[in-house]
Amino acid sequence: MEKFDAVVIGAGHAGCEAALALARTGQKTLLLTLSLDAVAFLACNPSIGGTAKGHLVCEVDALGGEMGVNTDKTLIQIRMLNSGKGPAVQSLRAQADKVAYHTEMKKTIENTPNLYLKQAEVSNVIDDGEEKIVQTVVGDEFSCRAIVFATGVYLNSDIVIGPYVENVGPNGFKNAKYLSTCLKNLGIKLLRFKTGTPARVNGRSIDYSNLIEQKGEENIQSFSFLTKKKPKNVRSCYLTYTNEDTHRIIRDNLYRNPTISGEIKGIGPRYCPSIETKIVRFADKDKHQLFIYSKLLYNFLFKFIFRA
Ligand SMILES: Cc1cc2nc3c(=O)[nH]c(=O)nc-3n(C[C@H](O)[C@H](O)[C@H](O)COP(=O)(O)OP(=O)(O)OC[C@H]3O[C@@H](n4cnc5c(N)ncnc54)[C@H](O)[C@@H]3O)c2cc1C
Repeated sequence: MEKFDAVVIGAGHAGCEAALALARTGQKTLLLTLSLDAVAFLACNPSIGGTAKGHLVCEVDALGGEMGVNTDKTLIQIRMLNSGKGPAVQSLRAQADKVAYHTEMKKTIENTPNLYLKQAEVSNVIDDGEEKIVQTVVGDEFSCRAIVFATGVYLNSDIVIGPYVENVGPNGFKNAKYLSTCLKNLGIKLLRFKTGTPARVNGRSIDYSNLIEQKGEENIQSFSFLTKKKPKNVRSCYLTYTNEDTHRIIRDNLYRNPTISGEIKGIGPRYCPSIETKIVRFADKDKHQLFIYSKLLYNFLFKFIFRA
């Protein structure tokens, strides 16, 4: 059985940082992930930082983390939010190229000494005091002194699209079918959360002439203290508003939404409500902001933001 100092389960944002920190401090580290194509995958909006989160990215950077460096390498737009307000509420926010973000992070991991990246689904762990054993679905076993669980949004996850439900990970990636049982047996209480993601649309189908263009800012600071080059903006974001017609279409189709119909009962994050939740909850508002973020060259992502 191959021996490591540490095994990190999950190569999402948390797992990549944990594995890099361990390896950079001299620990022989194994990083396991369900899919090598989803290392540091941005499941939704390819936005890094923003209000209350830009500071966190800079803190991770100050601690030697990779997120800031990787964002600077792969961003397509960067802005300081709330620049008209006081410094306490200003926050750096970048839109990253989703594919480049994943590719660059994977490259960094693969080129880090002491760090071994492997595609495998962990099904069980055995804690035998000093020695811990990580088992995979195909019967491989790895021994280590410490295990880091960074399994994110993949534990027996369901994807729900209107009335359609599939037991799968984000974006059609494989999910983790067995680890939840192991965690429960270890006495860990599991909760089910929910989050929403906006529709992806083809950028060529959008009439930009009626939208408000939001360019990135030039001569702006980078996320990482290590980045020497000023960030370069290559894409714009666009802003528009919903209207009464949009609200009517959404209200007419509410019955198709499992969150509204009560089929989904998971606890949702505070700041990620869907447009239909806003239409229901804030029925007195006659418009809501709608941001269109560039994702890849021609795919755009709608993001509805409500400001009271
Ligand atoms: C549809 C959707 C929309 C979202 N929208 C936003 C948003 O707009 N803004 C935002 O900030 N956040 C959003 N999130 C949440 C965001 O994706 C997560 O908070 C973030 O990815 C968590 O990072 P993480 O490193 O903890 O885990 P993840 O990024 O989820 O990574 C988990 C890793 O663990 C691996 N893994 C899991 N189980 C096993 C196993 N048994 N064996 C091996 N590997 C395993 C997976 O392969 C993956 O590599 C959204 C999530 C989803 C699903």
